[in-house]
Amino acid sequence: MRTPVVAGNWKMNGTRSSVASLLQGLKQGLQPGRTEVLVCAPYPFLNQVSDALSGTPIRWGAQNASQHESGAYTGEVSVAMLQEFGCSHVILGHSERRALYGEQDDLVADKFCAVQRAGLVPILCVGETLEQRDAGDTVAVVEEQLMAVVDRAGIAAFADAVLAYEPVWAIGTGRTATPEQAQEVHAALRQRLAQIDESVANGLSILYGGSVKAANAAELFGCPDIDGGLIGGASLDAEEFIAICQAAE
Ligand code: PEP
Repeated sequence: MRTPVVAGNWKMNGTRSSVASLLQGLKQGLQPGRTEVLVCAPYPFLNQVSDALSGTPIRWGAQNASQHESGAYTGEVSVAMLQEFGCSHVILGHSERRALYGEQDDLVADKFCAVQRAGLVPILCVGETLEQRDAGDTVAVVEEQLMAVVDRAGIAAFADAVLAYEPVWAIGTGRTATPEQAQEVHAALRQRLAQIDESVANGLSILYGGSVKAANAAELFGCPDIDGGLIGGASLDAEEFIAICQAAE
């Protein structure tokens, strides 16, 4: 049985006081269960998040990391730094980083390896644009993004990783993939990995991301190959995020 995972991606949002009340709401409202719940915060809040969540079952992660260990990389943050703050996970290859910061498969694969070398869990995001979906290229696109990392890191690396399918057209748009659309892609991704190693493929948590909210979470998470969600906008609201975590249970 795979572990359900619900990860909040706060993106570039929050203030010290909004983060404090969000964390307080999560600590008060989240019921312990079998779902692994985590929040991926902007770097400046990691210390605050780590203090507030220490001793709770809620874990915390980052939204990006450098592929380099240390040195003259102005503005970058290393995996060792994240590890020192108690981060457990790092989101990689998010479509916003691919589209806005030119991150390509090679770089995503380097970052994936760096994150794993530090003992953190990468959350690898893959997803197609609307044009790619309309052209019938969805599965080819996400498989190419996935295989670029498998080829570099090796299939065994996916025993300690999380995969997130996030159709670009569904992120922050309010337009969610239907459960059937999402399930089809999740199953294809799992099958692709199963061609190389069935047990790794069957053990891998594959999250859906793209306008998930309390109202549609249960239906999505009810699909056989959807093991939870990567949640953007709705993770900024404690009540909504808690309801999504409950749906994963
Ligand atoms: C995301 O940023 O990964 C995401 C899925 O955002 P949203 O839930 O807002 O669509």
